[in-house]
Amino acid sequence: MAAHPANPTWRARMKWLMNNPLSKLLEYSFAHGVHPQEHKAGTMALSMQRMPFSSRYLVPVNQHLGAPSKPVVKVGDPVLRGQVIAEPGAFISTCLHSPVTGRVHAIDNRRYPGGMFSLSITIESDPYDTQRIPEHPRDWRHLTADQFVAEIQQAGIVGLGGAAFPSHVKYSIPEGQHIDHLLVNGAECEPYLTSDHRLMVERPDALLKGIEILLHNLGAKSATIGVETNKPDAIATLREHIGSDSQRIRVVPLRVKYPQGAEKMLIKSIFKQEVPAGGLPRDLGIIVNNVGSVVAIADWFERSMPLIERVVTVAGDGVAKPANLIVPVGTPLREVLRFCEGMQSDISQIVMGGPMMGTSVVSLDVPVLKGTSGILAFRKLQRTDSREYPCIRCGRCLEACPYFLNPSRLARLAKARLFAEMQSYSVGDCVECGSCTYSCPSGIPIVQLIRLAKSQLRQSGDTRE
Ligand code: SF4
Ligand code: SF4
Repeated sequence: MAAHPANPTWRARMKWLMNNPLSKLLEYSFAHGVHPQEHKAGTMALSMQRMPFSSRYLVPVNQHLGAPSKPVVKVGDPVLRGQVIAEPGAFISTCLHSPVTGRVHAIDNRRYPGGMFSLSITIESDPYDTQRIPEHPRDWRHLTADQFVAEIQQAGIVGLGGAAFPSHVKYSIPEGQHIDHLLVNGAECEPYLTSDHRLMVERPDALLKGIEILLHNLGAKSATIGVETNKPDAIATLREHIGSDSQRIRVVPLRVKYPQGAEKMLIKSIFKQEVPAGGLPRDLGIIVNNVGSVVAIADWFERSMPLIERVVTVAGDGVAKPANLIVPVGTPLREVLRFCEGMQSDISQIVMGGPMMGTSVVSLDVPVLKGTSGILAFRKLQRTDSREYPCIRCGRCLEACPYFLNPSRLARLAKARLFAEMQSYSVGDCVECGSCTYSCPSGIPIVQLIRLAKSQLRQSGDTRE
């Protein structure tokens, strides 16, 4: 029977289509996930600004995933900006470099953003030095696969999206595997953060150079840059710069949704493929890199600049002057906030990273790390009601989980300390995105309970992650 406008089902469908124009239907996306308020308007148009050098820097040796780096300097040694001050402690580890020219002031345990203490190298900067690094290009066209991996490890490059996984490990491709595609992650789905956005708008040439270097050295045929549609200027700028190379490099607009920037979600959105449980993107012939890491690769090969600084978004209602800053790694938070003209007097919470996956900090003396994408200061706690109520079995956490886990069951098992049983419910697949906690009306700290359980499982060696 033909549909008729008087038919309520027909009317509902028309209304839905009016609210979801074709462009929305065609955007790349994934199932489940959440839609937190974006809060990006305050900084998305602010150009990157370089912070002046501070008098002291703290460089922790374990600011990446894997083994801590081993210091190769001693107290009193003079150091140059960009000089190696710690070497990799294992293959899954990386070099650390001095963020300034100066002198090693101390090598001791200092407070780390997570609240723990970490061995750190304190550098006092030389106020009379120009802090310039002699720039010279390095050959990237004639490297063997092993030489390329060694270069990236030497440059100290890690995933700058927050995870800080050493990039060279990703580029170490086992025999028999081949990389066809490079996926550049410009989703930046965490609220408030706009540092990747500004990099794409202001340094498109460096991003495209990094892509060229990676395509050449990984033997990949093509690259895709995934960008959420709330960054139309980044999409337009990149497309303009790609120009006639669009057969090889394309920009894909992604639906604004959290956690669109999670590696496996990005692959699902763009390639409609699932990374097998316990597997890696390279099992599908794909390598995923954050835009900041790709720019860092260009900086290393084009300018011999190791990873000693990064772009950080400073935002939140507690910051006097929000900004996107180029900050040397090791800068104390206090200095960054001082540069942003300080904070309001009634600050309740300071977060490093985004509000969904970031870490609350208890001291302003902790340093900016390679993985610090944002510093957010809030006048009110992000959750005003900190009470926890019983689970009402509403199922919202199940609908939110992009990995189709059962977060409420995982939380119950974690509370009962039945950690081993959580393995049967695929706790290892949880990426700790926090979508479940965000959607829970009972205020149950689901992701925190899962994190605790995962760390207990790791400690007991009983992990199938
Ligand atoms: S269970 Fe893990 S992956 Fe699923 S929503 Fe919660 S934090 Fe994210
Ligand atoms: S969202 Fe919260 S209340 Fe609802 S089922 Fe999940 S844990 Fe229970």
